[in-house]
Amino acid sequence: MSFTSLGLSQSLLKTLEKQKYITPYPIQKEAIPAILNHKDVLGIAKTGSGKTASYVLPILMNIQGISLKKTRHIAVLVLVPTRELAVQVNDVFKLFEESLPERIKTLAVFGGTSINPQMMSMVNVNILIATPGRLLELIEKNAVHLGEVEILVLDEADKILNAGFKTEVNKIIDLLPPKRQNLLFSATLNDDIGNINQILLHDPVVIKIETEEKDIELINQSVYSVAEGRKGPLLRHLINSKEMTQVLIFTSSVARADRVADKLKKNNIDAESIHRKKTQGVRTNLLTKFKYGKLHVLVTTDLLARGIDIENLPWVINYELPRSPKTYIHRIGRTGRAENPGEAITLISQDEEQHFRVIENKMKKRIERIKIDGYC
Ligand code: AMP
Repeated sequence: MSFTSLGLSQSLLKTLEKQKYITPYPIQKEAIPAILNHKDVLGIAKTGSGKTASYVLPILMNIQGISLKKTRHIAVLVLVPTRELAVQVNDVFKLFEESLPERIKTLAVFGGTSINPQMMSMVNVNILIATPGRLLELIEKNAVHLGEVEILVLDEADKILNAGFKTEVNKIIDLLPPKRQNLLFSATLNDDIGNINQILLHDPVVIKIETEEKDIELINQSVYSVAEGRKGPLLRHLINSKEMTQVLIFTSSVARADRVADKLKKNNIDAESIHRKKTQGVRTNLLTKFKYGKLHVLVTTDLLARGIDIENLPWVINYELPRSPKTYIHRIGRTGRAENPGEAITLISQDEEQHFRVIENKMKKRIERIKIDGYC
């Protein structure tokens, strides 16, 4: 099956071809026709499934039938949990919107950065991608109005609600006109999502794509037993001996992420840390460099465990274990995505051994421990 049978315009099809999107992913096959048909959609799919294009493409088609107001009234609102996802979704809109006959203006707004430039940029925006807190601030300042919204998207809805944005989301929903198309995407279907689904969606097309377990099969996992004090040297040994040129490393704290990155740099490995204490500008910059292969090693906390799409990431290393097995699965899910195999390496000290067994039980998978002389 190709994109041609999904109802998209010739110019969008051309851009898809240029971007080497040849075959639609399963979520796209189902969501694109449903959204073009103005149906509400509940998509249970995580990042890596192609969910962003599954709503961006039909929205860009549908928006051509909407009379766009040249004011601070937006037509499409996409709510996202993080700044990184806001930037990423905006990039996908920008990638495809150039093939539209009419100029469309999209903008990503998020907290942690000055509100003034965002207020200035709000004029004539048609598609707004926003984190809930910052959106409410902009509404309070009269910089944006939601009274004309025709399409609402909640992307990574589970994460929006987990991040404590429930009140904000409810306030935002109250400001929307009653008649609109609603698209809700979530990695999981929990009680919160069930509730919001009932409030928000009318007779939705429900699309459920792949389970986490299935994703795991795509990832080659290896586990190294290591003495706690030898994790740094083993990490350097692995990066060098396996010639890793794009690796995402997870640590358990901001301070540890900084320390690990510093130590790598001192040993002439091209590394930086990224976490919530860095400014938005620095984060976006580092992420872009890393995505495009201009930075080899990115050390992070669980901030990036979900939601960030780095295409075909070949390596993920758990320098330390996360608390929950679910987070472990999300971390290693940064690799082996979109049908490309990936490698996930986990370093475990004696103290972490028991906790890793809990993770193995959850995955229903046992992984052999590798021991290298001099490191364990
Ligand atoms: P997403 O789940 O939206 O974050 O998308 C995951 C990755 O898959 C992104 O890097 C997209 O550029 C890529 N992608 C999405 N759909 C397709 C497709 N049909 N063919 C090839 N790549 C795609």
